[in-house]
Amino acid sequence: MEMYSGHINKLIEELAALPGIGSKSAQRLAFHLINMPKEKVNRLAAVIIDAKENVRYCKECYTLTDKEVCPVCANTGRNHAQIMVVENARDLAAYEKTGKYEGVYHVLHGAISPMLGIGPGDIKLKELVNRLEGDVEEVIVATNSSLEGETTAMYISKLIKPMGVRVTRIASGVPVGGDLEYIDEVTLLRALEGRTEL
Ligand code: ZN
Repeated sequence: MEMYSGHINKLIEELAALPGIGSKSAQRLAFHLINMPKEKVNRLAAVIIDAKENVRYCKECYTLTDKEVCPVCANTGRNHAQIMVVENARDLAAYEKTGKYEGVYHVLHGAISPMLGIGPGDIKLKELVNRLEGDVEEVIVATNSSLEGETTAMYISKLIKPMGVRVTRIASGVPVGGDLEYIDEVTLLRALEGRTEL
């Protein structure tokens, strides 16, 4: 990459550090950005900074929101006794898109992965347990069906069941290793309806 100027190299480096962006895509994006009109680049930079400064965790479910409590948690029409546990805010969005789930969520922001050194203390598990002190009847574990997702599901089951709360797991109509966000709505609903006791 020595053929480019230091400024471009730096830009390519930062872009390549983003998830899902390989070095080829990073180069393509970098040149695209350089060729964009200045106002457009300024607007993009401002939107990124604005999002970073104004988005925070919902104080109940820990999804990303710009309010203290997200719209789902603030909705009194939702069933607050049913909590669906998901790995990230994108999975929450996937289930919200079905429009059929009436409970609330809990976003873990990751999954347990001994291989990557991510333990129970690194995701929002303590926060989940704290929520169970209220009138929660069911916790639906909707982590991915990857090794990490299954490990997390088992851990949650062991953690919560002794508290007398019903713990269920969505059906594995979801392909192994499949990210929830890429699964279509029908499959998501079928997985939810076919959930089993953990
Ligand atoms: Zn919330």
